Amino acid sequence: MGEFELIRRYFAASPCAQAASGVALGIGDDCALLQPGAGQQLAVSTDTLVCGVHFPVSCDSFLLGQRALAVSVSDLAAMGAEPLGFTLALTLPDADAHWLEGFSRGLSQMAEACAIALVGGDTTRGPLSLTLTVFGQVPAGQALPRSGAQPGDLLCVGGSLGDAAGALPLVLGEREVTDEDADCLQQRYWAPQPQLALGQWLRGRATAALDISDGLLADCGHIAKASGVALQIERDRLPLSPALRRVAGDQALACALAGGDDYRLAFTLPAELQPNLQAQWPETAVIGRAVAGQGVQLLDGQGRSVELPRAGYQHFGQSLGMQGD
Ligand code: ADP
Ligand code: MG
Repeated sequence: MGEFELIRRYFAASPCAQAASGVALGIGDDCALLQPGAGQQLAVSTDTLVCGVHFPVSCDSFLLGQRALAVSVSDLAAMGAEPLGFTLALTLPDADAHWLEGFSRGLSQMAEACAIALVGGDTTRGPLSLTLTVFGQVPAGQALPRSGAQPGDLLCVGGSLGDAAGALPLVLGEREVTDEDADCLQQRYWAPQPQLALGQWLRGRATAALDISDGLLADCGHIAKASGVALQIERDRLPLSPALRRVAGDQALACALAGGDDYRLAFTLPAELQPNLQAQWPETAVIGRAVAGQGVQLLDGQGRSVELPRAGYQHFGQSLGMQGD
């Protein structure tokens, strides 16, 4: 199978590349043409996933396709943006039809769930890696930055935390559990649902937002630093799923605090909006507040400061000064 036949069969002709609003021209020309609505800004984000670093060598290509796109679209959700399209730069060791078929199906399934279309890319030979660039639109001036949290704001998250971290030993094959709980956690790892509708609702309401990829503590640290506030997290208010409690036992809290890969939104909100938030989004949880100061503090049930577990995952540690995906 030649390069062009591969592109046609698994990408240009797949459901994820079909016509979509906001896409004036898709795959096949020198550039794709996107058409943001009047008064909208373009939101752009790129993520690279490298085999052996971000996903295991043996991983199922359907699951990989789903997850790769979900992780990228989650960045649009965190800005309050609405998806327009994405590109895929794919490096493959060989043209394995079975692998490509699964990958294309996984990508298409998540593309449909997120209402985003594949509009272009590049296909090369080499060690397996994927780079996805997502494009979205957000009304000018209304994107959700990390920098606006104010003392007195509530700190909130979009749903249960730590499920993906709880699934990691199962994903890596270090633990064999096949029951409903294990399936539920693995689903949260392989197919996180980008919180697009919540992100768009937060426009004009949240003062700061991001999606949790490196772990709650590490990512709250980014909001605290960008906003020049301290964030206090109340340990007993962290939403832990029943499945995580059963599978991870006494490690459940550590998964929620330091485990990455949740792709839930974390955001700060003026306190008067709490009733509104919880009426509209019952799965969200208020987990703390912003106060004057700096850094992230963890509080026990009596409001006393407790020691933080280790920070979130960082690729290559400090030596290259690079942050995780
Ligand atoms: P060019 O030589 O102009 O870079 P290519 O031969 O690389 O074009 O690609 C041909 C067309 O197929 C382009 O529209 C490109 O965006 C698209 N394309 C290539 N690889 C992929 C891919 N993996 N997924 C989606 N579209 C792709
Ligand atoms: Mg090219």
